[in-house]
Amino acid sequence: MSSTLTIALSKGRILEDTLPLLAEAGVEPVDDPASRKLILDTTRPDVKLVIIRAADVPTYVQFGAADLGVAGKDVLMEYEGNGLYELLDLQIAKCRLAVAEPAGLAASDDPQKWTRLRIATKYINITKRHFAAKGIQTDIIKLYGSMELAPLAGLSDRIVDLVSTGATLKANGLVEVEHIADISSRLVVNKASMKMKSAAVKALVAGMRTAVESRA
Ligand code: ATP
Ligand code: MG
Repeated sequence: MSSTLTIALSKGRILEDTLPLLAEAGVEPVDDPASRKLILDTTRPDVKLVIIRAADVPTYVQFGAADLGVAGKDVLMEYEGNGLYELLDLQIAKCRLAVAEPAGLAASDDPQKWTRLRIATKYINITKRHFAAKGIQTDIIKLYGSMELAPLAGLSDRIVDLVSTGATLKANGLVEVEHIADISSRLVVNKASMKMKSAAVKALVAGMRTAVESRA
């Protein structure tokens, strides 16, 4: 039986950083990845790429609409579903999740003394879990983007967001006050695909693992 493998990727840095790894594993898109096509054929007739929003990747993989996917650890930690295995740390799109606040507040703030915080973030589940584990109550305001604006606009003093260089925080007068997690992108697989298409999945994972290790 010849089975098709569908791999879910998101546009932007994940697509850009994953394509070279896939190429080393023998999979290259034949359709232009910059086009508006959402399903890309590849040089392997049995492998297709689907291009979706970053936060939708775990959903596609859980429900088997994609056999495999590449998603940030932040997206996976926030995701409430199950039915997927994390197979490989691709060591791409590296950044960290952190608590940030205005530099003026940070000058006199002591995270050891936090008891209740108002926080704007798109990472509601991660934020609740992180602070609940430390016995800190949270009032969380859900945002979909531009978390750095929240303190400037008076929505909340603190945010939980991804930080890479810190330039965006700095440009908005914010500083990082607490580290939550180191983030990189992971290759995930649907549990049923892992069993039913095990040979094809294993071969692809092995190829990508070699590509990742050759960069270390
Ligand atoms: P959308 O743009 O569709 O709203 P998004 O903002 O989550 O979704 P990206 O900005 O492409 O999409 O981020 C995708 C993933 O890349 C994130 O989930 C995270 O794991 C990682 N990432 C985000 N920002 C950075 C960054 N500044 N540096 C490195 N990796 C990052
Ligand atoms: Mg983004």
